[in-house]
Amino acid sequence: MKEHAQAVVIGGGLVGCSVLYHLTKLGWTDVMLLERDELTSGSTWHAAANIHGLHDHNNISKLQYYTMNLYKELEKETGQGCGIFQPGSLYLAQTRDREHQLRLQEAKGRYFGVDFHEVSVDEARQLHPLVDYSGVRCIMYEPDGGNVDPSGVTQAYAAGARAAGAQIHRFTPVTETNQRPDGGWDVVTPIGTVKADVVVNAAGLWGREVAKLAGFELPLMTMEHQYFVTETIPEIKAMEGYTSGLRTRAATR
Ligand SMILES: Cc1cc2nc3c(=O)[nH]c(=O)nc-3n(C[C@H](O)[C@H](O)[C@H](O)COP(=O)(O)OP(=O)(O)OC[C@H]3O[C@@H](n4cnc5c(N)ncnc54)[C@H](O)[C@@H]3O)c2cc1C
Repeated sequence: MKEHAQAVVIGGGLVGCSVLYHLTKLGWTDVMLLERDELTSGSTWHAAANIHGLHDHNNISKLQYYTMNLYKELEKETGQGCGIFQPGSLYLAQTRDREHQLRLQEAKGRYFGVDFHEVSVDEARQLHPLVDYSGVRCIMYEPDGGNVDPSGVTQAYAAGARAAGAQIHRFTPVTETNQRPDGGWDVVTPIGTVKADVVVNAAGLWGREVAKLAGFELPLMTMEHQYFVTETIPEIKAMEGYTSGLRTRAATR
């Protein structure tokens, strides 16, 4: 392991690898990522990895929309598949508050150039006939919505960063980060110490512990996040090819 880097990124999940990749794009090629286990072994591995262009916060919306469009380029650039699947997404509001939120997002979509528009129950039923739409107050449709393979995306960022000169060390936990008198950092691991001008904490749900290594108290709280995985549902399997045809029609309306 080399002894100096412009920046050391701690954590090899989606965020750490994305930061590493984007640093190289900005010309910071003397950069290193340290991951205590395997890349994607944190929460990234568990993500359903749904992609959508809008969020209640404008900056997150910009980031989400930017990355949604980046994945195809990333696949082309690195040759690493990102598992991009964009059949379109429906957003349902059953309460007044949710309707308000979706209508705000529709307005924001116009501002950011994201296609996110209201559809009628009949149109929604054509797009997804298996949903029970009773009691729904409004329905929004995002033709580019879908999901990616979070491991594939992380590996693609890592491949792009490595190709630009970044180093990635897996199975290398950071045990100390000590500030030096010149403002830089000694980043300590079991296989050696790296002097870094800048340290990036990308340790996800362990971000609080990693911040503590530098003497910072981050008031972070880990939240539970769940999804469920089903066996193949025959009615959905029977729809294969059906949804993509409908999507084409809906997108040209
Ligand atoms: C069930 C579930 C469903 C989700 N669904 C979605 C979704 O649909 N869409 C979406 O956008 N997001 C979704 N997410 C959220 C998404 O997974 C996370 O936002 C994202 O993976 C966070 O990435 P990260 O790189 O910050 O963290 P992580 O992937 O957790 O990476 C942090 C890394 O830091 C490493 N690390 C920790 N301490 C150290 C140390 N001392 N030294 C070295 N390395 C260290 C860990 O080993 C880990 O690999 C979901 C999450 C879950 C759990």
